[in-house]
Amino acid sequence: CGIIGYCGHRPAVPVLVEGLRRLEYRGYDSAGVGFLHTDGLRVIKAKGKLCELEKTLARENVLNATSGIGHTRWATHGEPNEANAHPHVDHTGRLAMIHNGIIENYQEIKQELQAKGVTFQSDTDTEVLLNLISHCLAEDGDMLQAMSRALGRVEGAYAIAVFDAENPGVVHAARVASPLVLGAGTGENFLASDIPAFLPYTRDVVFLEDGELVRMDASSWEVFRVEDLRPVEKMVDTITWD
Ligand code: GLU
Repeated sequence: CGIIGYCGHRPAVPVLVEGLRRLEYRGYDSAGVGFLHTDGLRVIKAKGKLCELEKTLARENVLNATSGIGHTRWATHGEPNEANAHPHVDHTGRLAMIHNGIIENYQEIKQELQAKGVTFQSDTDTEVLLNLISHCLAEDGDMLQAMSRALGRVEGAYAIAVFDAENPGVVHAARVASPLVLGAGTGENFLASDIPAFLPYTRDVVFLEDGELVRMDASSWEVFRVEDLRPVEKMVDTITWD
């Protein structure tokens, strides 16, 4: 039940895992991270506690990536296992996505996508939303447009973050009725379910509202309305507590 996204100059995977550890209080049954490896999109997940994920990570060289996404899952659709853990990868192998919340109308969308030949690797509602975004991206060619169109169709609660292997320095995220905050650093930016996830790195925080979409890279971030992609002007708050 935690989300973290990072774009910056540090090795991303340790930042993501440390961030997830700081979100552990939210509860979870599995965890995973997604990033760009030398040979393409890489997603590493494990059932159980973060130390299980770390055991798998320790066997690989994961220190090259400087951006990525991480997730702790509290299963709602599909049992807690590795296949249902996040990040999920879309059917083209280009996008990875993490999600907290529930997509109410996923069955209907899943059937539509299956009729178009999309196959699914998990039982989650998340993988359905991801493939809807992927489908819209193939048609629109633009991630903001694709997310706006796909999210316009879904009912439910979500905080999501999308990683695109063809644009690995950028993370897109959006929320409705699930928490999501942006941490604005210097030469690095963060997205998370809660502030403690990135507090060691920045105290400048942007609180995202329902129906907002963020595009961030290492040096900039922008917020839009999901509905019509109109830019939203946001306040940066400075956190004074530890
Ligand atoms: N509904 C999603 C799933 O079951 C997300 C669960 C969560 O919020 O962690 O995989």
